[in-house]
This record gives sequence, structure tokens and C-alpha cells, in this order.
Amino acid sequence: MVMESINPATEEVLDVFEELTDQQLETALEASRQGHEAWARASFSHRRQVLEQAGRLLRQEADAHARMITREMGKPVGEARGEVEKCAWACDYYAEQGERFLAPEPVDTDASRSYVRYAPLGPVLAVMPWNFPFWQVFRAAAPTLMAGNAMLLKHASNVPACAAAIEGILAEAGLPQGVFQNLPIGSGRVEGVINDPRVRAVTLTGSETAGRKVAAAAGSALKKTVLELGGSDPFLVLEDADLDEAARLAATARNINSGQSCIAAKRFIVVDTVADAFVERLRARLAELPVGDPTAPETRIGPQARGDLRDTLHRQVRDSVKGGARLLLGGEIPGGKGFFYPPTLLDGVTEEMPVAREETFGPVAPVLRVPDEEAAVALANHSRYGLGGAVWSGDRERAEAVGQRLDVGCVFINGMVKSDPRLPFGGVKASGYGRELGQHGIREFTNIQSVWIG
Ligand code: NDP
Repeated sequence: MVMESINPATEEVLDVFEELTDQQLETALEASRQGHEAWARASFSHRRQVLEQAGRLLRQEADAHARMITREMGKPVGEARGEVEKCAWACDYYAEQGERFLAPEPVDTDASRSYVRYAPLGPVLAVMPWNFPFWQVFRAAAPTLMAGNAMLLKHASNVPACAAAIEGILAEAGLPQGVFQNLPIGSGRVEGVINDPRVRAVTLTGSETAGRKVAAAAGSALKKTVLELGGSDPFLVLEDADLDEAARLAATARNINSGQSCIAAKRFIVVDTVADAFVERLRARLAELPVGDPTAPETRIGPQARGDLRDTLHRQVRDSVKGGARLLLGGEIPGGKGFFYPPTLLDGVTEEMPVAREETFGPVAPVLRVPDEEAAVALANHSRYGLGGAVWSGDRERAEAVGQRLDVGCVFINGMVKSDPRLPFGGVKASGYGRELGQHGIREFTNIQSVWIG
């Protein structure tokens, strides 16, 4: 089996990568076990140095990495550069904070001394998606490595060049052999890796379908999982919101990464009295987004990463229009090469339409009108997903109270949902469980060990 790196802007095959043979996979698993043993004993200051060096290397070569990301999955190059810099930030953050986050905690008991320590757990398998091909990996790797674990990366099959580059960066940063390895394998071989006794835990970012399969395999093998799955984040606009600012950020929150983000705003739930005014502003913002060549610095919307993903998005739009949604912008696949899809605005959307019920992974903004705040909260929570949510109101206290009623993992008031290494990140319901980032994230893959001394 081979994996192809395809430029989604031109549909040109850039490179072809061989999958690992069974023997090579076995060698990698054994190297991971041995690498883990050595790395678990490494001091925090040694781990810190390696992560700091990884951060430096990422920054030094940020432009080259950004161009590769853009070539392989179509992200506008300015955003790709931002992604690489954010990876360096995560490395620096855990280099600085990791030891403090994992410091032993004394606990008073009947012992002469007792405490809780956060010991390394063992090799962690990371199953990662293509949408932020560097960030998703570093977000998982920086804390996992700082906690003293080895990591095995099974990256998405459409970003094999990014996967190989990440392995190269971490090796060059001084990570001992076997501690971080890229496994170029198809998803059909993941279950075998999960079942291998040398692998101790799994983290997955991706679709709900992949999450359920991986969690089932890990559950039957009794291995811990962290799942960061899809979302259909609500963006609530109450009648006292600053509509100009809300519409400006709504356009950004929907269209980061050409709309292919788990925490993109995906359902615009707007109180009736301001809905016309908001929709008019949002339409103007969306209409001015430059679509096209992702290597051009001014481009804001590049191609979708794969043809099949664009087809799914278009089906969701078409079926919603058939069901009664009003198409105000976009909604047509352009001619020519590349998997492009235009910024699309749908008004009069109801909760049973595909653009509201399913995750839309692309530049499609559905507006759902509601009579009041109560209805907005009810509709926001009436979703299988629960990743993030934003609330817009001129009254911050009111918005905060509304935000706390959202059944989601991340609430943002008068802002857009974004990840930040300092804050835990993750969801509830079909958006997954467990947390990445922050102190909570680094503790997920540790052995929380109680020590009692008589
Ligand atoms: P997938 O969830 O299929 O891919 C994510 C990762 O999971 C890839 O590494 C993939 O490998 C792997 N994978 C897929 N199926 C299995 C399986 N049965 N067992 C083990 N590993 C598996 O996402 P898609 O790329 O197909 O995208 C489909 C939709 O998923 C998107 O339209 C979007 O809605 C959602 N999604 C959400 C993301 C998020 O950030 N939450 C990220 C990506 C997608 P391989 O590539 O080899 O199949």
C-alpha cells in the first residue's frame, strides 16, 4: 500500500509514500518500548531542553514548513505559518510549565509521609487528522513527551509529508531514538497497534466515526483514550450584541482553515429582532473573503483538503436548500482544478437540516433564527456535539450566565472559540472526552501514583 500526497489546489500528485511492512511496524513498536524506558528516566531539565530546541527549529524553518502544509492540505499559507508558530508556543509552554504541573502533591494520611506523583505511563499512540497537520500533533506530543512518555504517530493518510517532517524535527531537536516515531500505516492497522501490549494509551483527534472505532478497540484492550472529535459549535447572537463585531468575528470563526476546524462556529443562532441586521453584515463579510490560490498571501479561503470532503459538504448544502433553507451566498462548486468551495450563507435553517444536524467541515454558515435567549440556549444544546460555544451580548454578565448553560467543553464570551496551550481543550457528548492542553492535558497520560510511607 502507498499513500499519496496530493495538492488539493491543483489535484497534482506531489509524492508517494510506502506504508510500513509488518516487520517494520514490529521494529517501531519495540523501539518505542525501549525509547520510552530511557525517556521516562530522563530528567525534566533534559526533556525541557529537547522541547525548547524543537520550538527553535520550528520557528527557524517556519516558512518552509508552512509551504509544505499548504501544498499538502491546501491551508492558506499565512494561516499555515501561524500554525507552525503555535506549535513552537506549545513546546515552549510545556518546556516551562511541565515540571510544575507534574510536581508531586503531598497528602495528609495516617502515613509518616504520603503523596501523589504523576509518573510516565508508557508509549501513547496518537491518531491525528489532516486539518491542522502540525498543530494537532504538537498539541498532543508536547505534553506527552514532557511527561516522559514515548509517542507513536498514525497521521492522516493525506498528509504523509507533514508526518515525516514532524518526526524529523523532533529527532533533530535531540529526542532519543524510538521516543517519537511516525508510523505510515492505513487506518485498518490501527487496531493491531492498540492491541499491542507495548502501547499503553491512545489519543485521537478526528471524526466521530473514527473516534467510536478507536475507543471501542481501546476499551476492549483496557487502554485509556482521549478523544477530540467533531463539533457543531453554536455562535449565539443576543439582541444586545455588537452586531458589527459579532459579524466580523463570525466570518473569521467559520472560515479559519477554509472552514475545516473542529471548533469553527458552525451554527449561528440569532435572536429574531436582530437577525436581519446580523445576516446582512455577515453576508457582506463573507462576500469579501478572497478565495483562491492558498500560496498567495492575501488568500483567506483555499481549497478543501480532499474531493470527497467537498462532495460531502455540497451534499449537506443541497439537501438543506431542498429542505427549505434560503441560499444567500455561494453554494456552487466552481469549475476548474482544485477542491474549492465558496463561502456559503444559508438563512432560515432549522435544526433537522443537515447543515445544522451534522458537522459541516467547510465554509458554510447556517443561520438559525430564535425568538429569545431561552430558545437560543435550548437550540444550542440540542445537538449531538458539545465542543465549544460562543455567546455575544452587550451585557457581559448576562452572556457569561448564558454561556455557562451551554453543554460544551469551551465557552467564549464576545469572542471566537480558539485553543490556547494555557487552557484545557476538549468536549462533551459526541465531541469526545478527556482534555488536551493546560495542566489537565499533561496529566491525562500519566500514572497518577499514590505513595504511602509508614
Ligand atoms: P477521520 O476521522 O476519518 O480521520 C482522522 C484520523 O483517524 C486519520 O488519521 C484517519 O486515518 C484515522 N482513522 C479513520 N478511521 C479510522 C479507524 N476506523 N480506525 C483507526 N483510525 C482511523 O476524518 P476524515 O479525514 O475522513 O474527515 C471526515 C470528517 O471528520 C470531516 O469532514 C470532519 O467532519 C471530521 N473531522 C474532524 C476533525 C476534528 O478536528 N475534530 C478533524 C478531521 C476530520 P486515515 O487518514 O488513514 O483514514
